[in-house]
Amino acid sequence: MAFTIHLSVPGVQLTIRKERKGRLQLLDSGDEDHEKVVRLFKDGWLHKNKNLPYVYRMFRITAPESLIQPYLQYYDSVRRDTGTTPDIEHLLFHGTFRACALGETEDNVRLCHLARCGLCSIIRSSFDISRCGTQHKFSRFGQGIYTTKCSSKADDYSSSERSDLKLRFLLVNTVVVGWQNKRTRNKRSLVNAGPGYHSVLGVPGEDLNYEETVVYDNDAIRPAYLIVYGDTPPVPPKPIDARTVMRKLFTTPLVL
Ligand SMILES: [Zn+2]
Repeated sequence: MAFTIHLSVPGVQLTIRKERKGRLQLLDSGDEDHEKVVRLFKDGWLHKNKNLPYVYRMFRITAPESLIQPYLQYYDSVRRDTGTTPDIEHLLFHGTFRACALGETEDNVRLCHLARCGLCSIIRSSFDISRCGTQHKFSRFGQGIYTTKCSSKADDYSSSERSDLKLRFLLVNTVVVGWQNKRTRNKRSLVNAGPGYHSVLGVPGEDLNYEETVVYDNDAIRPAYLIVYGDTPPVPPKPIDARTVMRKLFTTPLVL
C-alpha cells in the first residue's frame, strides 16, 4: 500500500511506500505533476548558449516512511522558526553522476548498487552532505547540498559514465529553504547557513551567474522527481509499410 502527502510546494507529491517495490513511477505526460515540473524545467532553462532540450519522460520518486519522516520533522522544526512565512519549501534541480542506465528507457527503472552511482544512491537513500562535497570541485558556499531553480545550470553537473547513453537527467527535489541567507560573494568555509538562517541563497551578481540554494542538513531535502531529456526528440517508430507486409505474406510458404 502506498499513500501520498502534499506539502506546501504546489503540485509536489512525496509518495510514502509501505512495501519494498520499485522506487520510480512513470508519470503520464497528461499528469498534472508532469506538466508543472516540465514548466519549471523550461522556465529554469536560462543559458542562452544551450538549446532547450526535449523532455522524454518523468518519474515520480517514492520513498519508504523511514526516509520521509525525518524530512517532515525537519520541515516542522523550520516551520516553528518561520511562523507564517510563505514559501519555505521550494522545488529545485540537482544534477549528479549516473553509472548505470536508470531512466534511459521507460523500462530502466531498477536502481543499481554501484557505490559510485550518485543518481541511484540519492534516489535510494536521499542526499548525503559528506558525498555531495566530493562531486563538486568548487563549492562556493562550503560543504552543503547544492540545488538550483536554473535547470540549465544543474544540467552542467549531470553526467553519465556510459558514453553510449544519449539522454540526460536531473533530480527535482523538495527543499526546505526556510529563511534564506542571501549572499553575492563566495564563502567556501561555510558549514551552516548562519545564525537564524536555514539555507544560503547564492544571488547572481558578483561571483555568481545563476542562482543556487544550499542546505546544510541531510533532512532538509528529498528527491521528488526524475526528469529525463535529450537534445533531439525521440525518433518515432517506423510506420508499417503495407507493401512490405503484402510481400512478406505472399513469399511466405503456406504450411497446410
Ligand atoms: Zn545507478
